[in-house]
Amino acid sequence: MAGRYAPTVRNPVGRLPGGGLVLGVADVVVANDPITGQGSNSASKCAASYLASIVEHGEKEFDETWMRATFDRYWETARHVTKWTNAMLAPPPEHVLNLLGAAGRLQPVADRFANGFDDPSDFENFFYDPEKTGSYLAEVSGA
Ligand SMILES: Cc1cc2nc3c(=O)[nH]c(=O)nc-3n(C[C@H](O)[C@H](O)[C@H](O)COP(=O)(O)OP(=O)(O)OC[C@H]3O[C@@H](n4cnc5c(N)ncnc54)[C@H](O)[C@@H]3O)c2cc1C
Repeated sequence: MAGRYAPTVRNPVGRLPGGGLVLGVADVVVANDPITGQGSNSASKCAASYLASIVEHGEKEFDETWMRATFDRYWETARHVTKWTNAMLAPPPEHVLNLLGAAGRLQPVADRFANGFDDPSDFENFFYDPEKTGSYLAEVSGA
């Protein structure tokens, strides 16, 4: 589709010609379509996650096992970005149209959707599953 691209999740560990191992960061390891505007925040979150893994590892060797575990820790956050971005690339199903329509009338729905840009893991609770969306809209509209 013109102007859109599939998300890319790459092998996080590369080997240099001299034999050394390198751990990729940010867009190099997880690149999503720009539709959800997640690239810069994801790059920052990746850096913060890697920093925590570096500091916690202390003086031990930063070997391939550590590199893969470090990427897996970041992926626990990034996977929500990729799942949501993929969902936003697809034609919206009826329950999502209902949700977006409700966001135009109900401030809490608009706020929750907007906050999902910061933490897309919350979409698991009210966006993908029609039943969860229905329950949430019933709850927030007092139905
Ligand atoms: C047109 C466009 C619009 C975008 N809009 C948004 C947006 O609205 N919101 C959003 O969140 N994200 C947006 N993004 C995505 C966002 O810019 C990226 O996801 C983010 O910059 C990725 O950070 P990064 O550190 O992985 O890579 P980059 O920011 O690309 O940094 C990589 C750096 O490595 C350097 N480099 C490359 N090769 C070498 C080398 N061999 N030696 C030394 N240095 C090298 C490059 O010069 C660059 O400075 C947009 C991207 C593009 C292209």
